[in-house]
Amino acid sequence: MNAFYVTLISFNAFCFLAILLSGIRKEQPHFIGLACINILLLSFNLLSLLLLNTTDLQRAILLSKYHLSCLIIGIPLYYYVFGKWSKFRFTRQATIASAIICLPLLAYNLLSSFSLRYGEAPVLVEYVTLFGNLANVLTGQSNAYSAILHVVSSVMGLFLIYCSIKLYRQRLTFVSLSLLLTMLLQVSFGYTGYILDSQQSTFVYFGGLPMTVMSIFTVLHIAYGYSRQSSKLIIEKKHRDELHELFEQLARLSNESGNEDFFIDSTRLLAGYCSADFALLGIIDKADATQITTKVAVKYQETISNFTYARSGTPCEDVLKTGACMYSENVDVLFPDDQMLSDENIKSYVGYPLTNENKQPIGLLVLLFKRTLPKSNNLGIVTDVFATRLSAELRKIQLEEELKATAYIDYLTKLPSRAKLLHVINNVYSKQRVNDTNSLLLLFDIDHFGEINSKFGYEVGDQVLKIIGKRLSSYTSHSVFIARNGGDEFAVLLSDIKESVDAVVNTHWTAIKAIVSSTYLIGSRKISVTCSMGAVLLPHKLDEHFDIIGSAELALTVSKKDGRGHYRFFDPQLMSKLSQNRNIELALIEALNKNKELSVHYQPKVNIDGQLVGAEALVRWTSKELGFISPADFIPIAEETGIIYQLGDWVLRRVLYDMLSWKEKGLVLAPVSINVTASQFDDESFAEVLLDAINSFDIDASLIEIELTESGLLIEKERAIAQLSILRGHGFTVSLDDFGTGYSSLSYLSALPLDVLKIDKSFVDGLDDVKDKELVKTIIAISKSMELSVIAEGTETKHQVETLYNMGCELFQGYYFSKPLPAAEFCSWLPKT
Ligand code: C2E
Ligand code: CA
Ligand code: CA
Repeated sequence: MNAFYVTLISFNAFCFLAILLSGIRKEQPHFIGLACINILLLSFNLLSLLLLNTTDLQRAILLSKYHLSCLIIGIPLYYYVFGKWSKFRFTRQATIASAIICLPLLAYNLLSSFSLRYGEAPVLVEYVTLFGNLANVLTGQSNAYSAILHVVSSVMGLFLIYCSIKLYRQRLTFVSLSLLLTMLLQVSFGYTGYILDSQQSTFVYFGGLPMTVMSIFTVLHIAYGYSRQSSKLIIEKKHRDELHELFEQLARLSNESGNEDFFIDSTRLLAGYCSADFALLGIIDKADATQITTKVAVKYQETISNFTYARSGTPCEDVLKTGACMYSENVDVLFPDDQMLSDENIKSYVGYPLTNENKQPIGLLVLLFKRTLPKSNNLGIVTDVFATRLSAELRKIQLEEELKATAYIDYLTKLPSRAKLLHVINNVYSKQRVNDTNSLLLLFDIDHFGEINSKFGYEVGDQVLKIIGKRLSSYTSHSVFIARNGGDEFAVLLSDIKESVDAVVNTHWTAIKAIVSSTYLIGSRKISVTCSMGAVLLPHKLDEHFDIIGSAELALTVSKKDGRGHYRFFDPQLMSKLSQNRNIELALIEALNKNKELSVHYQPKVNIDGQLVGAEALVRWTSKELGFISPADFIPIAEETGIIYQLGDWVLRRVLYDMLSWKEKGLVLAPVSINVTASQFDDESFAEVLLDAINSFDIDASLIEIELTESGLLIEKERAIAQLSILRGHGFTVSLDDFGTGYSSLSYLSALPLDVLKIDKSFVDGLDDVKDKELVKTIIAISKSMELSVIAEGTETKHQVETLYNMGCELFQGYYFSKPLPAAEFCSWLPKT
């Protein structure tokens, strides 16, 4: 018996802890109340145990008082706990009312000299229990108070039965049944108590047992709740992980797949995840909006060939009209006209629209199942995500196509654009490798097109280009592709050439010339133009570094340099020259920026007696990377790239610096001529800079001669003349270099503000030739008549000097007298003051 009680008490302690913890965690006050009941139960059972083992009457009465107190205190708690649990509306009121009733009972029980339950003069009776041990039990006459207590307990019993019904209705079946069972037990134990009290039984009174059982059930209920919740959580987490993985895969597809692969891969991915029997990615036909054509069709995870179907009578129609649709069962019955649904025995359907940027449907994503779908599923969410992603991809492609279409047409001439040309070149490349034929790219442009623009305005220029575009478009055929490469440049791509390449180029060149040069009538204006062309043969081995258009452009540039109006073939040597020039350009920039590798040499100019009359400053460059480079090689590059301004400035300052240091050494300065190319006059501040420089070095203007190359002067003649006049006004002298080699005419010569003519070395070299000799004579005569002094350059022999002297030339420059010398050596030519 004792062991049984100890077990019971242990259960009470355990249940107290379990229920209290759960009550705190879930913030459920009725569980905390139930925990309190368990404490009372524990005390109740402990007291029962003590009571059964006591032989002292007074002690038994005291114990019995406490024992009953536990029961009385418990009553309002029961109201509170089960009222709240079963969501009884008046729990609070019932609890308070019961407490008000119980309070005087409790007070009476504790304060009177005997226990409420046994009334006055109880006796302690010893008996042998069914466990075979001796136990003591109090018995006595019940009084009015104990009757009240019975009534209160019975009302509570009825309330609890009511609560159990309420709990049952709230689907808390387990709790409800355990409460009901507790009630039954309580009634039967109440009865046992009664017959025990009347000493008619050997039973042991286990008044705390029913509620202990109830508590155990509650703990079981809580534990079950937890396990169910945690398994629910595990399932939810698994779903979440799967979804996460799915979306991650989708994101990966977006990055890795090409456009078309992306549609196939993602549709298959979705079908796989949803275990769909069919997955369709359908696009509304552009030509016939009543039809849908699949872009991807997947059956049992495998792609099948695409097909077209009519929208009407299918759930797809609803999707396109009203948005996403899901039929979890009987879709084949709902849409009897949909042949596919009935043929394939489809039971359920999920469809999401694919939309354009204006949210208009352009197609749809469909999942079909041969099974019915569970009521709650996440297929909608998943399909929605996929549909959104696919819509975005479709939009991207559409945009790309639109862009391509505009990028492929030249807006002005309506001919294919450069982008299209590149595309076609690539195609031709791959084709010619298969066919073993030749392909040619011809690139031509209008000679002096800039002049048309500047003379007549850009509108006229555009008109000319438009007309050319129109004329050329009629020249296009299946083997002749024509595009505008940009500006006034047009490209003709000839593929599938089986004849001699030269013959083909000649034929087309003749045709192009005829097309381009026939007169343009724009308004009342008649314009005629010529053109130049570069040609390049497409290589048979694809070389990534070979730039076809670039090569044709190069050939075109060369043909223009050669004088316009004809064509040139691309020569690979041109290319290497180009890259060589680029190296020179970069190295020269570096040399200038770091003020290294460059120097100036001085070549004496003398009279017939070999006496110094002046010197020519000649720049020298020994590059660390490229070695010695002649100014004849790098000056043209400097001119083309614009480095000439910086270089010219550097030479000028170097010369002035050297002259200043000679002066400081006490030497008599001789005039130094500085070479100036015509392009340097493009800089309007040229004269100003020069004046500032001589002032800051304190060198007299009369000691500086400007040597112009004749060839460059034709262009920008006016600007050059203006600047030269200013400089001459300040005392500079001006000489014309290489005279006789260029385009000079007498009228041109007379317009230039000049002091000196320099006979070019080529004439000096050819003095033995009668024709050259005549020319030199003429030059000397002209200079005399124009009152210009004349000097011969490149005189290498005594014979040359004498011949020239006899012809009237009195000044000389050349190896015969001296090579160009470094500043330090040259200064020995200068006399001391
Ligand atoms: P240029 O002005 O006609 O210079 C004369 C060139 O002939 C110099 O070549 C000179 O060294 C060379 N020369 C002189 N006498 C003889 C001779 O008896 N026999 C032979 N074979 N050659 C002789 P360099 O120095 O190579 O200059 C080449 C060209 O580079 C110059 O031709 C000039 O146009 C240009 N240049 C040189 N320095 C400068 C410069 O500082 N600025 C500019 N803008 N151009 C320069
Ligand atoms: Ca010169
Ligand atoms: Ca010269």
